[in-house]
Parts: sequence; C-alpha cells; structure tokens
Amino acid sequence: LASKLPDVGTSIFSVMSQLAQEHEAINLAQGFPDYDPPLVLREALARHATTPGHQQYAPMPGLPRLREAISHKTALVYGVPAPNPNTEITITSGATEALYAVLAAVVHPGDEVLVLEPAYDLYGPAIRLQGGKPVYVPLRATDFRPDWDLVAAALSPRTRLIMLNTPHNPSGAVLTEQDWDTLAGLLAPTNTLVLSDEVYEHMVFDGQPHRSALQHPQLAERSFVLSSFGKTYHATGWKVGYCIAPPALTAEVRRVHQFLTFAVSTPTQHALADVLAEAAHFQALPAFYQAKRDLFAELLRETGFDLLPVPGAYFQLARYHRISALPDVEFARRLTTEVGVAVVPVSAFYHDGQDAGLIRFCFAKEDETLRQAAQRLREAA
Ligand code: PMP
Ligand code: GLN
Repeated sequence: LASKLPDVGTSIFSVMSQLAQEHEAINLAQGFPDYDPPLVLREALARHATTPGHQQYAPMPGLPRLREAISHKTALVYGVPAPNPNTEITITSGATEALYAVLAAVVHPGDEVLVLEPAYDLYGPAIRLQGGKPVYVPLRATDFRPDWDLVAAALSPRTRLIMLNTPHNPSGAVLTEQDWDTLAGLLAPTNTLVLSDEVYEHMVFDGQPHRSALQHPQLAERSFVLSSFGKTYHATGWKVGYCIAPPALTAEVRRVHQFLTFAVSTPTQHALADVLAEAAHFQALPAFYQAKRDLFAELLRETGFDLLPVPGAYFQLARYHRISALPDVEFARRLTTEVGVAVVPVSAFYHDGQDAGLIRFCFAKEDETLRQAAQRLREAA
C-alpha cells in the first residue's frame, strides 16, 4: 500500500504517554491535566447521560443551547457582537476535528498554507492530506513570536490560508493586538483565509489579555476561530470543541463536518451548555495556571534546566544544554526511562525534526505531581 503520509510516524504525544506508562514515569509529556473537570460539570453529564431523550444524535451543527451559550460567552469575553449560533458556530469533536474540517473545506490541491513553526503536530499532515502544500515560516528563535517580514515574504497568490495559534503550543507565546493589525494589513490585498487556533484562550498570564482574531473586524471576516472545552474545563477526554466563522465559511465547514463525524456526543453537549454561563470558572483559569507555572519554575530553579518565559498555555519549555549534549528525542527518552519524568522533545513540532535542544513540560498537574517530578529532575540535573 502506498502510504499517503509515508514520512509520518505515530504522534509524539502517544509515543511519550506509552513510554511513560511502561516506565511508570510521571507524565509531563502529553498535554492533559491530572485533575478532573469541575464537579458541577461531571454531575451535569451524569444527569444528562441518564435523561431519556438525550441519547440520540445531536443536530449536525451542535445542540442549539450549547451554540447559544457559546455565542453569549464569546460576546461577553471579547466584547464583540455575539456570533449567530445558527450560522456562525459549529460544535466539533475537539478542536482536532475543527482543524481537519476547516482544512478539508478550504484547501484545494496545490494550495499553499502558511504554518508558523514550531507548530502543533497535526497541522502539516492534515494540510498534505488535502493535497495542500504547507509552507513553513520559522517563528523567532528567541521568543517564538512571528517575524511578520518572513510571513510577508512567504505569502503568494496561491496562499489559501494562514494558521495561527495563540497562546502557542509549545512555547506559550501570545499574539498582541499589534500582531493582528500587522497580519490584517498583509492580508488586506489578498483572498487568504485565517485559521486561528485559540484552544488555550483562557491561559494567558501576567495580566495580559488573550487577543482573539474575532476582535479584529477585518480579520474576523476571513477567520475560522477554534476553541476546545477540553482545555477550558480540564476535560481533554470529552473531545468537544467548536469553530466560529462568518456564515459563508461556516457553511463550508459544515459541509465537511456532516460527513466527518456528523454530530458530537449529545449528553456531553448538554452538560457543557449547563455550565458555560458560569463565567467564574474560566475567569479563574489564568491565576490557576499562573500559580502552577510559577511553582514549577521555582521547583526547577536550582537545576541545570534553563527555563524559557511562559506568557500563556500550560507548557514550560526548557533548554538542557548544561545537562546533556544528547539530541532532544534521546534526552526526552532518557528522562522518561531513567529519571522517571516524561517530556516532549520540541523537534516533534518541526516538519524536518530540527533540534533546538529544547524539551516541553506540561504543568497542568496537581501541585504534588509537579513537586514529585521536580524532585526526580533535581536529583538528575
Ligand atoms: N490545537 C492545539 C494547539 C492543541 O494543543 C490541541 C490539544 N492538544 C488541539 C488543537 C486539539 O484540541 P482537542 O483536544 O480539543 O481536539
Ligand atoms: N495538545 C496536546 C499536547 O500538545 C496533546 C493532544 C494529543 O495528544 N493529541 O500535548
């Protein structure tokens, strides 16, 4: 069989979680919390899971009451006109499905899609599966922010879409209002669309705001904005996300979504609709994660790891050159198997596997988990 992705192995997140399990390592590799979603949400799910009539297919675009709740929340959080739940919001099976549906909907064979690297591992392969050509633009090596001159140089008449991710996985870098203005200026004379992956929208630190593409009127007109309840509610296993886009773009996403998953789990959508109006939950997330970021950094202060600044998301990048000269994949493997702490090598976020000597820790963990992991790391480094 001729593989459509001959150069692609198993996702690094599966590989490292499996290795962590085999070696009983503390898993700071794959990004997921080791605490549960809020009790009210789990209770809501239990209630809806036993409610007669909530067991069959949800409407294809998502439950109306969940789309309405998202519309209100979006208007509240970003101070933008409420997106129309009927024509601008689609519930998907995680942001993963939304990413795939957007790419399948808009990328024609031969189209170019700009991807800023390092990038989340599915972007490149999902573009290629549509016959598209990922055009990789490096983020600045110092702070992982876009170099807009490089983006401008990479734009061509064949650029169908540019993919942005703020806060950024794996670095946590966040786009500013000025970044969005610059992008809007670059795209004004083009038909290029924007996919803005904002799954970590509620994890921005040090008093900074998350700036959404939705807040920029010229960009919102051409953007698909993605989020994930997995991140916002500590529920990565629920696999519910959504896409907000203007009606004409939403219509195209739904053409694909209806044949990809058709609809998302019904009781799960009801449960999320029950809790979404409670703003206190997501308003508390920046402080909650900032405290974990700061605790983990403090715990690693006297080790040989050099920690990079973390403006957002729930990942800590670290240079390890004072500890080891190994390639990052090998270093991550040894940390997992010999030290008992699983991490992700950042080369997994580059299409060509380039190695900057960086590893990624996920700090979405109980404080006690972070303490135990840090103890093992301190003994080793
Ligand atoms: N985009 C980014 C940047 C992510 O980090 C993740 C989660 N790993 C996703 C998309 C996928 O989100 P979900 O789990 O909702 O499918
Ligand atoms: N987004 C998560 C991460 O970056 C993992 C998601 C997955 O395992 N596919 O670690």
